[in-house]
Amino acid sequence: MTAGRLTVVGVGPGRPDWCLPAVTERLLAATDLVGYGPYLDLVPHRVGGRRHPSDNRMEAERAQAALELAARGADVVVVSSGDPGVFAMASAVIEVLDEGGRDHAGVEVEVLPGITAAQALASRVGAPLGHDFCVISLSDVLKPWAVIERRLDAAAGADFVLALYNPISRHRPWQLGRAIEVVRRHRSAATPVAVGRQVGRPDESVGVVALADLEPASVDMSTVLVVGSSTTRVVADRPLGSSLYTPRRYGA
Ligand code: SAH
Repeated sequence: MTAGRLTVVGVGPGRPDWCLPAVTERLLAATDLVGYGPYLDLVPHRVGGRRHPSDNRMEAERAQAALELAARGADVVVVSSGDPGVFAMASAVIEVLDEGGRDHAGVEVEVLPGITAAQALASRVGAPLGHDFCVISLSDVLKPWAVIERRLDAAAGADFVLALYNPISRHRPWQLGRAIEVVRRHRSAATPVAVGRQVGRPDESVGVVALADLEPASVDMSTVLVVGSSTTRVVADRPLGSSLYTPRRYGA
């Protein structure tokens, strides 16, 4: 039996026209689609492969199952939202390959990129990522909270713009409030924060608030935040989509 192929793709934040043609091509060719249920729902219905939806926290099992299907000859696509390399399935698949054990040697594995949430949000408000920035997940499911705090403190202290993923969930209610306190050690109350919920999806909502006014209760797990650096500014009297930016020059 010849081994098949496994492609890890990102379908972008949600809008079909924000998904790379190369990804769509691979989705259309797939015999099997593997992914977290709501992400599989982002794949257009004309895509005909068998769908294997799974729960959110089952990444390792999902990666293992996908590799096994591919080892048996299937053309498998593992679906992530956004980019598959950013807090998503590409690492999960390569972790399984690295752990070895079962023989997936014949499976051809490829990763195809997508637009990640922070880029999508940035494009909705202007150019807040125009200078150095740092991407941090606030989820302490796979890393200790102390590490997250240390990184927030260091990145905010070094004056990076901060893109914050996984800001809050039912099981992680207090972490965002604590993260704001850490960032506040280094940033003024007026620091602009872009808040993007369901960016690129039909019920998208996007806004810019001052750091001191950011209410954790108004944020959910479909939200990404971009916290400005000391130089990030809002241009007065501009529409939201071209109002927030971080200048390219710094300190010169
Ligand atoms: N691979 C994804 C990130 C997965 S982690 C990507 O590259 O975008 C899940 C987190 O991503 C969510 O908690 C949220 O913070 C962010 N996110 C993903 N899609 C989003 C969207 N459409 N709008 C806002 N935030 C999103």
